[in-house]
Amino acid sequence: MAEFSIIDTYFNRKNANSVDLGVGDDSALLTPPPQQQLVICVDTSVAGRHFPLDTHPHAIGWKSVAVNLSDIAAMGAKPHSILLALSLPQIDHHWLKDFSQGLYDCCDQFGVSLIGGDTTQSPHLTITVTALGWIETGQAVTRAGAQVGDLICVSGTVGDAAFALQHMGHPLQKRLDYPTPRCQLGQQLKGLASSMIDVSDGLAQDLGHILKASGVGAVLQLDQLPVSLDIAKLEQEKKWQVALAGGDDYELCFTISPQNYHLLAQQKLDVNLTIIGKITQNLGLTFLQNGIDYSIQFHGYQHFA
Ligand code: ADP
Ligand code: MG
Repeated sequence: MAEFSIIDTYFNRKNANSVDLGVGDDSALLTPPPQQQLVICVDTSVAGRHFPLDTHPHAIGWKSVAVNLSDIAAMGAKPHSILLALSLPQIDHHWLKDFSQGLYDCCDQFGVSLIGGDTTQSPHLTITVTALGWIETGQAVTRAGAQVGDLICVSGTVGDAAFALQHMGHPLQKRLDYPTPRCQLGQQLKGLASSMIDVSDGLAQDLGHILKASGVGAVLQLDQLPVSLDIAKLEQEKKWQVALAGGDDYELCFTISPQNYHLLAQQKLDVNLTIIGKITQNLGLTFLQNGIDYSIQFHGYQHFA
């Protein structure tokens, strides 16, 4: 089966939302809504590096989309569509069927269309997804707006994916294989959060990006970090390591003024929020345990490190 027949069989379903021209021509065509900016990002997943080699293809498909929708959510934007660049070592119909199903399941859940891509042969399974979304001009929540006195919040629980990677088969493996991009929360934070990032490389490292971009510091309450039950049972230092340095959770970490937090808390949210600290004028990241300074070393994920 040639490239075109793979595209037609697995990647040419009807679109979920308005697309002027999708898969099948030289490029796709979209009409941007009036007064909105295009929000666009890309992420590559390499087999054996971003996911274990034996990950179920359905999960690989889901996660390739989810990690990109998470980046769109972290800007406060509404996701619209994706493009898929797929490099396959060989044609495996079982794999392609499950992979495309996982990919479309994530697209469908968040109202996103697959509008194009590229299909090539390569020795390594590599999946690159580009995501597009829209946001009212000037409304995007960047990493650069944190203000002294803002609260620091995180959605859901942190450390689950890292814990699951060490305990394959544990129920938390669902969080590693099928991360939930916080699309609804991201859009609710537009106009309320002062800065935002999605937690892909570890909470401490990702929060560090906000601090650097905003030119501020932070103090985090270790005892407030939201963790799942089995992580809460770990020895204290281990627990914080997992929560602060574990990657791949795709929760949203954001800063928000106390007044805006109050407004947010009155809305119906589809995920729990936890206040984990405060933005300070003193640069750097410091930790408190029950109000007392606590020194902890951690390392988030870095390629080429
Ligand atoms: P071209 O040679 O003009 O770049 P291709 O032959 O690579 O076009 O692709 C044909 C059409 O199929 C294009 O619309 C492209 O966007 C789409 N396409 C190719 N691969 C994929 C894929 N994996 N998923 C979705 N669409 C794809
Ligand atoms: Mg062409």
